[in-house]
Amino acid sequence: MKKILFVASECVPFIKTGGLADVVGTLPKMLDKNEYDCRVIIPNYRCIPDKFRNNFKYVHHFYMDMGERFSSVHVGIMEYELDGITFYFVDNLFYFGGDKPYADTRYDIEKFTYFAKAVMAILPVINFRPDIIHCHDWQAGLVPVYLHTLYRDNPFYRGVKTIFTIHNLRFQGIWDIKTIRSLSGLPGWVFTPDKLEFKKDANMLKGGLVYADYITTVSDTYAGEIQTDYYGEGLNGLLSARNQSLCGIVNGIDYDAYNPETDTNIAKQYNSKTCKKAKTANKKALQQELGLPQDESKFVISIISRLTDQKGLDLVRYALDRICDDHTQFIVLGTGDPQYENLFRDYAWRMPGKVSANICFNEGFAHRIYAGSDAVLVPSLFEPCGLTQLIALRYGTVPIVRETGGLKDTVQPYNEYEGTGIGFSFANYNGDELLNTINYAKHIYFNCRKEWDQMVVRGIKTDYSWSSSAKKYQDLYNRVLGW
Ligand code: ADP
Repeated sequence: MKKILFVASECVPFIKTGGLADVVGTLPKMLDKNEYDCRVIIPNYRCIPDKFRNNFKYVHHFYMDMGERFSSVHVGIMEYELDGITFYFVDNLFYFGGDKPYADTRYDIEKFTYFAKAVMAILPVINFRPDIIHCHDWQAGLVPVYLHTLYRDNPFYRGVKTIFTIHNLRFQGIWDIKTIRSLSGLPGWVFTPDKLEFKKDANMLKGGLVYADYITTVSDTYAGEIQTDYYGEGLNGLLSARNQSLCGIVNGIDYDAYNPETDTNIAKQYNSKTCKKAKTANKKALQQELGLPQDESKFVISIISRLTDQKGLDLVRYALDRICDDHTQFIVLGTGDPQYENLFRDYAWRMPGKVSANICFNEGFAHRIYAGSDAVLVPSLFEPCGLTQLIALRYGTVPIVRETGGLKDTVQPYNEYEGTGIGFSFANYNGDELLNTINYAKHIYFNCRKEWDQMVVRGIKTDYSWSSSAKKYQDLYNRVLGW
């Protein structure tokens, strides 16, 4: 039995702010249980719903020294089992007591420095020596660094391998060297330009990328893109240098959680055979819920997203007046940057029958929008993988995307001559291209409905479950362990 430990800052169903949580919560249960004992460790945030927290089992607690400043910091260990997977939660109210998982950067830096060290310290206490520690994003960045420095000579950790998965290269955990050195207790020699130093500061993600045995990211295209200046966020040199230990494995989605046939969040369940009628019923229910005119002939196009510049919202701003014609209803569900929240609030106020702005985070609501929309818009500036387009496809909703990262790898564009493809896409980060593509989609929707309906069915039938990607991770684990 190979032992794998996932280290991350979020995980469904406990805590989620984005796609990272979906991956960390789903992939472990998709691995072959006869071959892999995969466990997950995340912080015990006070904002995890009580229905879970009240059932966490206390395992142990101890005190750990942390850097130069604190000599005995509390580390509690809680445990919970779900779907045959053991989840551990690092307990410390000072760091994880807030009403959301992330706060200001300085505080997050300290929080996740603590978290990485606590994870290392917990392993012997729970007597779980992983063969591979699979770290996710910058919050887990210091784990491989600790393994190769402070814990290097400890026999318990001997031979432990690390894999680092980049879900988003933009977030790196950067602060000045003096602070990170003093918080982490890491030796001075790791703060050099070939290790953690980055433009005179310290970079926690970079530490993970330097020290991990293998690096993955969440799509093939993104794996290539991050080696370029444009997408590399300043780390393209390092990533190119590590090119031989870097690959892309596209995410899947949880086919149980996102299943229109059994989804109790939506008005009418459906599958590829019943989707046409059921989607109309879902559209009307959605229109009613949102106070939009109940009219099945409208083209309903939606955005379900964090509202940040990464998501291509500047293109949407440029084109929105022209997207919202008399045949169209435009729905947004998201939270984030106030400039975008206010943009959509303003449009909803100015065009009440056409635009619906829902500035909140609500999983059930998201499902109803996926089910009731005709198209979902994902025009991202960059997109490591993207789950929205995959969920949309599963719900028979046509994705309209920009050809970047995982969007490019997963949305085969419609070809009217061959009758192939499952969505629409455009190449350049340009508002007119976005508008042209949406208008082309509308043309197919309004004038070639049979072709549109066939495309919807092709989308539902495309397999974006975890099965093939989970196998790729297993192959990688075996390869890394065989070294
Ligand atoms: P990212 O990880 O960059 O935020 P992804 O496309 O990988 O983007 O994942 C986004 C996930 O979060 C999807 O499951 C999407 O449905 C969900 N999501 C985003 N915003 C909201 C929201 N406001 N309410 C509910 N779910 C949301």
